[in-house]
Amino acid sequence: MNVVYLGLGSNLDGPENHVKTAIKEVSQLNQTRLLECSSFYKTTPVGPQDQPDFINCVVKLETGLSAHILLSELQKIERQHGRERGRHWGPRTLDLDILLYGEMTIKDDKLTIPHPEMANREFVLVPLMEIDADILIPGCGMASNLISRLDNHSINRI
Ligand code: ATP
Ligand code: CA
Ligand code: CA
Repeated sequence: MNVVYLGLGSNLDGPENHVKTAIKEVSQLNQTRLLECSSFYKTTPVGPQDQPDFINCVVKLETGLSAHILLSELQKIERQHGRERGRHWGPRTLDLDILLYGEMTIKDDKLTIPHPEMANREFVLVPLMEIDADILIPGCGMASNLISRLDNHSINRI
């Protein structure tokens, strides 16, 4: 079994509901159990600003699925939520990112773990630290050190 953290986000068609349902669906994957879930946060978009605010959260899972199988299961769930591939960092009904997979580092065409942008994103680090305050991000350091360099004005717990 591996401990995995996922980042969830949505900013279309009732975002809170997409995120809530996705948590349920992720928890029901084979060989997978939900361990913890952060609060929900309302956050301003990264990238294009002409789109609605996001709802973001982080969940902690235990899973027997490999990282690549987990990714394809998550993409299936995104598609079930009507996710369309639009412009880069554009609006979406559901985004499911694998942030951490045990202590593993992976870098291939399909998967980069730890998630390459997580260290720069307060909407990831804040909910992540709500679950594990002293978490270490392989190759990047302690989340608490990373977060102290970012301003967290653009996210609000709801
Ligand atoms: P960002 O990755 O900056 O958050 P995004 O979530 O909008 O951007 P997507 O369009 O959802 O990007 O994903 C593009 C591709 O990223 C996916 O097809 C997937 O193969 C790849 N990918 C690489 N690493 C990861 C990861 N850790 N979690 C999820 N997808 C990943
Ligand atoms: Ca993302
Ligand atoms: Ca994604």
